[in-house]
Amino acid sequence: MVQSSILGFPRMGANRELKKATEAYWSGKLSQEELLAEGKRLRLEHWKIQKNAGVDIIPSNDFSFYDQVLDHIQLFGATPERYTKYNLTPIDEFFAMGRGLQKPAKDGALAVDVPSLEMVKWFDSNYHYVKPTLKEGQSFTLSANPKPVAEFSEAKDAGIVTRPVIVGPVSFLHLAKPDRGQSVEPISLLQDLLPVYEQLLVKLKDAGAETVQIDEPVLVFDLPVASKAAFKLAYEKLAALGGKIPKLVFTTYFGDIVHNIDVLPHLKDIYAIHVDLVRNPEQLDSVLQALAPGQVLSVGIVDGRNIWKTNLKRAIETVETAIQKLGRELVIVASSSSLLHTPHTLESEKKLDAEVRDWFSFAVEKAHELAIIAKAVTEGPSTVRGQLETNTKSVQARSSSKLTNDPKVKDRQAKITQEMYERKSPFTERIAQQQNHLNLPRFPTTTIGSFPQTKEIRIQRNRFTKGDITAEQYEKFIEKEIEEVVKIQDELDLDVYVHGEPERNDMVQYFGERLTGYVFTTHAWVQSYGSRCVRPPIIVGDISRPAPMTVKESKYAASVSKKPMKGMLTGPVTCLRWSFPRDDVHQSVQAEQLGLALRDEVIDLEAAGIYIIQVDEPALREGLPLRSGLERKNYLSWAVKSFRLSTAGVQDSTQIHSHFCYSEFQDFFHAIAALDADVLSIENSKSDAKLLRVFVDEAYPRHIGPGVYDIHSPRVPSEQEIKDRIEEMLQYLKPDQLWIDPDCGLKTRQWTETKAALTNMVNAAKYYRAKY
Ligand code: GLN
Ligand code: ZN
Repeated sequence: MVQSSILGFPRMGANRELKKATEAYWSGKLSQEELLAEGKRLRLEHWKIQKNAGVDIIPSNDFSFYDQVLDHIQLFGATPERYTKYNLTPIDEFFAMGRGLQKPAKDGALAVDVPSLEMVKWFDSNYHYVKPTLKEGQSFTLSANPKPVAEFSEAKDAGIVTRPVIVGPVSFLHLAKPDRGQSVEPISLLQDLLPVYEQLLVKLKDAGAETVQIDEPVLVFDLPVASKAAFKLAYEKLAALGGKIPKLVFTTYFGDIVHNIDVLPHLKDIYAIHVDLVRNPEQLDSVLQALAPGQVLSVGIVDGRNIWKTNLKRAIETVETAIQKLGRELVIVASSSSLLHTPHTLESEKKLDAEVRDWFSFAVEKAHELAIIAKAVTEGPSTVRGQLETNTKSVQARSSSKLTNDPKVKDRQAKITQEMYERKSPFTERIAQQQNHLNLPRFPTTTIGSFPQTKEIRIQRNRFTKGDITAEQYEKFIEKEIEEVVKIQDELDLDVYVHGEPERNDMVQYFGERLTGYVFTTHAWVQSYGSRCVRPPIIVGDISRPAPMTVKESKYAASVSKKPMKGMLTGPVTCLRWSFPRDDVHQSVQAEQLGLALRDEVIDLEAAGIYIIQVDEPALREGLPLRSGLERKNYLSWAVKSFRLSTAGVQDSTQIHSHFCYSEFQDFFHAIAALDADVLSIENSKSDAKLLRVFVDEAYPRHIGPGVYDIHSPRVPSEQEIKDRIEEMLQYLKPDQLWIDPDCGLKTRQWTETKAALTNMVNAAKYYRAKY
């Protein structure tokens, strides 16, 4: 019998109950017992959903109150001393690592003040994990009541025998880093960590676990020799424990393992190997060849990263290929990765158009798909004929839908010429014309786009969405907001103004709502980090721009402003990356369509008298493929092209800006330079100014605003501090290359601190203007 399995289920609950409970606990509105009880309730509910859907192998320990890697830091006793010294309860210590903790002294307890551990993106997803920070001579001890064992037993008591999920030793160490001031190579700690895995696995076996899912996703990376060699050491050792521990399902995802296939022989005594065949279907043959006799293959065939209905017929064919080689007993059907990255259930979407709704499948629906696939390959397709037929119909309806295909868009794409990617003249000529036209002083000051999104703005937007005020009333309100921020910029004496983005709810959704090819959900939340969730729009079809999207606001802003007004757009790659993309056409095609739509907008803005236009691309870096080489080269090529397509249609005298929320692009500097943006604003205020050296080394000629202060904190930087920062920047950048701006948009800030900080910033700029 072929079993179906899920590698992990979303934790938040259908109505983000986990988010609400944790946030209530943090603000003191919920007790610790109540929080723990809510976690328990959600776990049980999620196990039951999967069981009722007919899934055979259900995960446990996929739940977390914050992040699964953080769970393991505590599980292995690797909590840095700066958190343990306060004698907090385990869950408070856990949250302190996740989000930092500041607490005054009370009842004899010490005052607490610790920042969080570093949080970084989980592979190429929008989920963030907490990075283990280890020290020299790091010791590891298994926690007193190990979470994987406790949750396994909890499910078992409820009558559900689960497969616990743990992060494998090589991935845990490879994803870790040395703590501040430490120089330990985390992977060198493997020998010390393995005994803890042994103890944990023995305990799981004693508790009744037959199999354990051990996640080793780092096998999809280009690995340094030491990490690669670690697999042999770790898994030969664990395999030697034989029947003392559960059977292990060695799990990889988000990429292929073909380039590391020589690791598989070292795993020959491991029960099963899981691979992601949604992302890399072509790896199936190589993996089948490399399996040891009798080894089970877990076929990841239902997409854990996107929301599309699985093409069941195609999935079954893939599973059959594996069965032909291995036989039924040696194949498991699985989600490609954890379903953590998909929303909870389609059931919650009451407002979706019926036609497109039929194309989607969220976590609950994916559980059903897995059960159907397993049944089809075990008992024959005729046993699920009805479901297969319905599925085929949905898949066909989607591919032939008018919403998916717009011949006009395709036609336009076919007619793109090389010229459309090129500005008329090179930068040196353009900048002379721009200076003539815009007449900006040296060290020009500007902001990144948004000004504080006040309560009043949110109230009016809500009233408008609900229909309590008319479009006209709302428009008047927005105009008044724009006038106000223009007046404030007058008072601050900034050089390039923005309209403040009061009309925008979100930098991607706002554009998606004005483009064809996008749809929106009401409940499709996905965890981003901790209690934070995002609700990405969905790209369902060919994208085009029926009408201008931002021209009205920018034009109005320019009409009330005496200084140059900067237009503000979200770039094609960011619109794509922060949405659920289509899976039926390549992402480059979608980026090109977005590029064309934005090109029209840029040209319209220019025609409306906006001569500085910023196209934000904060998501460009996160789309960078996990491995270097051809894949990365291809990505950068189409990403850069889509940006150039959107911006190159303007006159030389119009100035194109772009913005990124990071400053580490040493490894893909050439792509950044290839964007050919006249002015680049980046987020360097908290990073080492040395990162700017790459601009000198590469003789980057264009203008740069590295961000002179951090907008993520309410703290007001002094004028002197900003001057010091500028001084540092001038060690790397030329005076007439440097722009003075905050390091990102100001929407999350309050007005008081914003005005104070910008006043100091403008004064600092004026000081340098007088000096040079
Ligand atoms: N223009 C946007 C803003 O100011 C940029 C936001 C971002 O880079 N994430 O809000
Ligand atoms: Zn930013």
